[in-house]
Amino acid sequence: MKLKIDQRRLSAEIEMLAAISDAEPPAVTRIVFTPADLRARAWMISRCEEAGLAVRQDAIGNIFARWTGANPAAPAVGTGSHIDAIPNAGKYDGVVGVLGGLEAIRALQRSGFRPSNSIELLVFATEEPTRFGIGCLGSRLLSGTLSAEAAAKLKDRDGQTVDEVRRKAGLNGNLQDVKLAKSYYKTFVELHIEQGPLLERAQVSLGIVKSIAAPASLRISVEGSGGHAGGVLMPDRKDALCAAAELILAIENAARSSGAVDSVATVGVCDVFPGAVNSIPSRVGITLDIRDTDLARRDGAMKSIERAVETISKKRGVVIQTELINADAPAECAPEVRTALAESCREHGFPFLEMVSRAYHDSLFLSRIAAAGMLFIPCRNGYSHRPDEYAAPDDIARGTLVLAKSLAKLSS
Ligand SMILES: [Zn+2]
Repeated sequence: MKLKIDQRRLSAEIEMLAAISDAEPPAVTRIVFTPADLRARAWMISRCEEAGLAVRQDAIGNIFARWTGANPAAPAVGTGSHIDAIPNAGKYDGVVGVLGGLEAIRALQRSGFRPSNSIELLVFATEEPTRFGIGCLGSRLLSGTLSAEAAAKLKDRDGQTVDEVRRKAGLNGNLQDVKLAKSYYKTFVELHIEQGPLLERAQVSLGIVKSIAAPASLRISVEGSGGHAGGVLMPDRKDALCAAAELILAIENAARSSGAVDSVATVGVCDVFPGAVNSIPSRVGITLDIRDTDLARRDGAMKSIERAVETISKKRGVVIQTELINADAPAECAPEVRTALAESCREHGFPFLEMVSRAYHDSLFLSRIAAAGMLFIPCRNGYSHRPDEYAAPDDIARGTLVLAKSLAKLSS
């Protein structure tokens, strides 16, 4: 089998998709089910159809593009990622796995290879948490990690439910039907940029993921009491922002003091009410994102944050409420996928690193229903989720080649 990646076409497609965006280039903004995202999805579907793939969408908007194998009843070999993008993002997060996955399939078609198991490209819907506050909504539903009832009720910032938004986008199916049977996929492989600096530092252009870190997130509201910035004296204050500030530092400390580099905690949102220069903040909303490769360690850090919540609310006379958005377990990548990736690298003489994915991906959830794994390529300075995110065309092509080879092995 002579496999050749059309690097020029792949690079051109990455640029074309980046142009379908709500931000000034080079930034990309593509929030799920906005007009830009819907245009991008339609463009993606037409590319898949051009490649002769049979395309279908489910009720949450996951797109499946299938190259039917000689044994169509056998479980499929899946690959894919996402094309939605957070505000002011880059061109490569998710996109490399989708367009690289499509090019891997086209390269296999051109080589004359004929799969036994069907090979399917999966474009996950609403991977980014921007709109509905929870990441990987599409793959959570596919894997049954989140129930259809719970998903339907999630709301965006304008108060529209998932159900309303998806129906407006023309997705009228039943959310109950999104969940896949465990026999649907034999294996699943996701190609992705690393979103960290380790491959670049090691000057190795491929990473085979061993495990994916366990994420959890909380919404926290702090209720104090407002008042005039001049009139209310300091001993009488219940400043919600000062209480939130103390809590944010306690959150930082919970991750720093765990003793492991894999423990990370972030507060990335802080809404202050009423948000006026001469008014004491009466209410603050923050979000907590906490991750670890070790579930017990992550849960330990969450416990220490809970204790801080109690201490701070007592000390400052404020009411702090926490709402758990998600608390997921980590995943080990499947040995058969790791082996196929490693063999493919070796056959081409490409060195690789074995590594941990500290970001989480749709593969974390696919691993609940299929043997799943991931292949990383470097991104410059480890930058991601910013407009200067960059992956070199050679690295993208190399990752795509290893992906194609691995899909061939897994579907033979
Ligand atoms: Zn991604």
